Amino acid sequence: APTVGVLSLQGDVAEHVRMLEHLGARTVRVRRPEELARVDALVLPGGESTTIEKLLRAFDLVEPLQDALRAGLPTLGTCAGMILLADEILDAAPGQRGVGGIDMVVRRNAFGRQVDSFEMSLAAPGLLPDVDSDDADRPLRAVFIRAPWAESVGDGVEVLATVAVDDGGDHGEAVERIVAVRQGSLIATAFHPETTSEPFVHRLLLNSLS
Ligand code: GLN
Repeated sequence: APTVGVLSLQGDVAEHVRMLEHLGARTVRVRRPEELARVDALVLPGGESTTIEKLLRAFDLVEPLQDALRAGLPTLGTCAGMILLADEILDAAPGQRGVGGIDMVVRRNAFGRQVDSFEMSLAAPGLLPDVDSDDADRPLRAVFIRAPWAESVGDGVEVLATVAVDDGGDHGEAVERIVAVRQGSLIATAFHPETTSEPFVHRLLLNSLS
């Protein structure tokens, strides 16, 4: 079984560990460069991106993490983890730079002005790897908690899921906002696949290992 590290500085670590073990992976909680060096894949959990970033610095993990991402370590970032993986962050906290890796611009707390947390069904065929399964067309349950979205993505980035959001104008029109992406070995979701019993996103990460 592959060994998947879960960055364990802050955030919903236990939920990711549970989901990964449910899918048959071995897990390691990553707090030090030596632990990072032993994993076949990595999860950057949701939580608070500025706190996680400060702890990454305090634990001397920023450079080892950037090196690992550049070297192609399969990595999933959810919510705060998506923010960390973005090359550019809008509405960042003072001094917040992120780690980078995915050619996208994310907006922090993007849904916040409208609603803090919500759960919805996503039409996200890009997140269902097994196209032959009975599940292939069903919507995916997704939980958003003070979530970011990707405001724009580069050419090399595949959009896996979007949600329709009111554009805030007078005419009540909807814009599609990007909430899941993949670029090479990196996957990011604005929602929390670990809090629902939806294994698709973690499976996508594990499938990239075999
Ligand atoms: N708003 C948080 C941040 O900026 C992310 C929220 C989450 O991970 N649930 O880091």
